[in-house]
Amino acid sequence: MIDWSRSQQLLERARRVLPAGVASNVRAAERPFPLFFTQAEGAILTDVDGNPYIDYVLGQGPLLLGHSHPAVLAAVEQAMRRGQLFAGQHELEIEVAETLVRLIPCAGMCRFGMSGSELVQAAMRLARAVTGRRRILRFEGHYHGWFDNVLLSVAPPPEQAGPRECPRLVPGSAGQTPGVQEDALVLPWNDLTLAERLFAERGREIAAVLTEPMMCNTGAIPPTPGFLEGLRRLCDQYGVLLIMDEVITGFRLGLSGAQGRFGVTPDLAVFAKAMGGGFAVAALVGRRDYMERFARDVNHSGTFNGNVVSMAAAAAALAELERDNGAVYRHIEALGTMLMDGIRALAHRRDLPVLVQGFPAAFHVAFTELSAIREYRDYALHCDKERYGRFKVALLQRGVRVLDRGIWYLSAAHTQEQIEQTLDAVDAALAEVQTL
Ligand code: PMP
Repeated sequence: MIDWSRSQQLLERARRVLPAGVASNVRAAERPFPLFFTQAEGAILTDVDGNPYIDYVLGQGPLLLGHSHPAVLAAVEQAMRRGQLFAGQHELEIEVAETLVRLIPCAGMCRFGMSGSELVQAAMRLARAVTGRRRILRFEGHYHGWFDNVLLSVAPPPEQAGPRECPRLVPGSAGQTPGVQEDALVLPWNDLTLAERLFAERGREIAAVLTEPMMCNTGAIPPTPGFLEGLRRLCDQYGVLLIMDEVITGFRLGLSGAQGRFGVTPDLAVFAKAMGGGFAVAALVGRRDYMERFARDVNHSGTFNGNVVSMAAAAAALAELERDNGAVYRHIEALGTMLMDGIRALAHRRDLPVLVQGFPAAFHVAFTELSAIREYRDYALHCDKERYGRFKVALLQRGVRVLDRGIWYLSAAHTQEQIEQTLDAVDAALAEVQTL
């Protein structure tokens, strides 16, 4: 039996000074309880009891290059010795911005920040300034940060969420101001007919459509063919800005983001996680004429925006991602396909109803009879989350760490041998949850 006693002791100590023992609410829900870690390198994470794990959490997505990537660390170390914060400009900001503008289809200009949450706010403010309208249309099950005006209908209990065709907005936290709900509209994702109906009624009230281009905060749900194109068309028709929240998909689904992969160009997009190689950085990119409003009448500020460490990390991470014509992406594609197919085959052999969907760099594993998960309610109503939770713990006990919500991330640092070890652990974990 695996020993987690040191983690347990630290959690007890932490709970005296940190609410729930953690710094981010999502971590409190981790099964069997939040673990403490001491070290991470490549695809391996080691906890305080000395247990190593093959890591598919990867910092919740940012570590596309793996933990402690040497080129990123060297760049950061070198840059930060010359200063950390100038409260003024430095050349690395231009370098990273030029790379983003070159790689991302919608990027005419960019603004830097420290987290996805804050730059989603900047994107919404800009959309309201451009259109002179208030409302933001978003989708059930999408997460856009923890702020009042976006923590709505992210994981609504189905009994509170109202009818599918006309969902109720469900706040995600106590203490949110009720006013923000008046500015938000919500629909199920991947249903263009419902979007068309809403636009026909209220299209001229909407400032922006805010969407994850692949729904990664509930499963790993690709857009159905024509859905993003349909949103683009509706936005053009009604003078609405299309904002893609690429915080997870950006650089994970390819060098041009999900927008490049799916061939639909938004007006604005938010990038974060994978662009920083494990360091805190985020970018809002978009059409030049819109972005230039930041130079005139739209405010966006931040003490740490564009700081030396963030920019050095981003410059180094982006250079690694571009190396050898996308070798990182080919590696992840090959190993991720092997892992996805392997999980499917093992489940099939045991006659277990397991669905594996998404892309090799970010895929979802669920216990369900469905042949595809297309929207939040499919997941909420038709996936056995209790069984997945037990499966997750069984994997952890065998040295494989995945997120409780079912998404698996892959990195350039994973090896074929680690994929084979993972599949052995998956087989044993499936056997464990089969009998219960
Ligand atoms: N948007 C999406 C799609 C996300 O997944 C997240 C974080 N998981 C955020 C925004 C918020 O980003 P951050 O945690 O950096 O504030």
